[in-house]
Amino acid sequence: MKTGIKVWLSRLVQSRAFQALVERCEGANDPAPLLRVLTYHRVDDPEARPDLAPQLAVRPAAFEAQMRLVAERYNPVSLDDVLAAVWEGRPLPPRAVLVTFDDAYIDFAQHAWPVLRRHGIPVVLFVPTAYPADPSRAFWWDRLYYALQTTRASAVETPVGCFPLHTPRDRWSAYRRLRAYVKTLPHSEAEALLERLYADLGAPPVRASVLDWDALRRLAAEGVRLAPHSRTHPLFNRISPEEARLEALGSWADLAREVGPTPRVFAYPSGGVSEAVVQQLGQAKFRLAFTTERGINDLRAVHPLRLRRLNVGPGTALPLFRAQLVPQARYLNRLQLVFTA
Ligand SMILES: [Zn+2]
Repeated sequence: MKTGIKVWLSRLVQSRAFQALVERCEGANDPAPLLRVLTYHRVDDPEARPDLAPQLAVRPAAFEAQMRLVAERYNPVSLDDVLAAVWEGRPLPPRAVLVTFDDAYIDFAQHAWPVLRRHGIPVVLFVPTAYPADPSRAFWWDRLYYALQTTRASAVETPVGCFPLHTPRDRWSAYRRLRAYVKTLPHSEAEALLERLYADLGAPPVRASVLDWDALRRLAAEGVRLAPHSRTHPLFNRISPEEARLEALGSWADLAREVGPTPRVFAYPSGGVSEAVVQQLGQAKFRLAFTTERGINDLRAVHPLRLRRLNVGPGTALPLFRAQLVPQARYLNRLQLVFTA
């Protein structure tokens, strides 16, 4: 979308008149049994971890304001509440919100969990289970970001062209283009390309960024609900359905072994999903699965293995956060892409 329209929309959402409208909607009863599911990845100041890609990090002060709003104006629900609503037809309270975190980054324990606990908000943490036991393992998007930030090379040769790396803007642009390209590749090709790029760029390794098993066990004992998010975090629409089944069941088994009883509830890595994958998860007795498709779920017509979520990123200002939670502003959930892209 053109930048001019983007700016205009951003001003509209932040205007007093629009916010007054949203505030009125926040107090209204839902027009249907609805479930809002928020997705977070990291809560941290991007400056605190310059080796990690910043597009996933919500600042701690913004997260605090968002959770205060959820606690005051909505009804936070637990995973068990949602399982009972979807599978047993037990009603959820009006204005129901489920908070989820993907990827089990270390900053969840530092900055998110204390806030959630203080506000009494239940949370589900989706864990890619090949990571907690191996501190040297880092997500490909973080490694790619760090490699492009730290390299001394003035350009990088890739299958989609040669990108200059002179300025911070060049590096950010190369990162975004390559990230988008990697997501189109079959998993094995993506891995091979990334390995070659790291070698070419001569980058140092990223520090551990995912919670280890001891930390995960502590969080589980304190009330965080852990659920599988695959083992190695491949895009499920870029591997075979059989590999997807093994990744999903494998991560469930890892959590059950390392932490204890684990629900058969899944979040598709980076939202990659296909009909064949949904069928595999159904056959493997998964009860719920969360996509990254944006939207509020109407529980009268929901597919349990294709639940929609509302992703919250660094570009989600509080007025926009508020607007996307009210069903009356449904169209904004599409526009939201404009603000967080
Ligand atoms: Zn993920």
